[in-house]
Amino acid sequence: MKVVLLGPPGAGKGTQAGRLADSLGVTNAASGDLLREHQRKGTELGKLARPYMERGVLVPDDVTIPMVTDWISAPEQSKGFVLDGFPRNIAQAEAFDAELADKGGIDHVLCINVSEEELLRRLSGRWLCRNCQSAYHEEFSPPQKAEECDRCGGKLYQRDDDRPEAVKTRIEVYLNETEPLIGYYSDASILRKIDGEAPIDEVARALMAAVRI
Ligand code: ADP
Ligand code: ADP
Ligand code: ZN
Repeated sequence: MKVVLLGPPGAGKGTQAGRLADSLGVTNAASGDLLREHQRKGTELGKLARPYMERGVLVPDDVTIPMVTDWISAPEQSKGFVLDGFPRNIAQAEAFDAELADKGGIDHVLCINVSEEELLRRLSGRWLCRNCQSAYHEEFSPPQKAEECDRCGGKLYQRDDDRPEAVKTRIEVYLNETEPLIGYYSDASILRKIDGEAPIDEVARALMAAVRI
């Protein structure tokens, strides 16, 4: 089972990816998390990506495509995966299709829809675990203890690119470069649109229902 989660920044992709992957018995990853991991480790790839990520624009395809195809080719992903944040433009989608051609292709692309007003509320209050990347929200999904992860006890932090200026750029980049993927995948009849404004558990149920079709 190979699933891609599509949707604007703050739609809830990260919140849902792990739960969906657990239910399906597959692994999950977010391209943004893979990039941030490279930054933490100080790799060449991480250094190259940093200025793009700080501004909220896409990191070049010649960096992201090999990074993600390496991940999907690893033995851990042989049963399938839930991928969040990739592909993010048509060139990435074409490269991904080529890579998956002899593995049966993508089974489902689930696009999580949320209004811009709600995205701004979500990103300005988002806190993430430094250790396991779990997402919290100070109002909508607060941790039990302030600044501490319920799942692993890790310390919570706010992302630099969740500042209002970078968020504005990220939403524009989504509309210009990523939203065209909705047409791209509708043509392949694997796309489902999900209402992302419902409560977290309800969105999780809708995603599960969509992959069972
Ligand atoms: P969100 O889902 O909250 O928008 P991500 O963590 O997916 O944020 O992405 C953060 C940043 O990482 C993006 O603004 C972009 O700079 C970079 N990035 C992540 N995935 C990709 C990708 N597939 N292609 C290019 N850049 C990416
Ligand atoms: P993405 O990975 O798409 O950028 P996240 O999963 O990090 O989005 O979610 C963004 C913020 O919104 C987080 O603070 C998260 O706790 C919160 N959130 C996610 N889903 C919902 C929901 N259905 N209702 C309310 N808040 C949500
Ligand atoms: Zn954690």
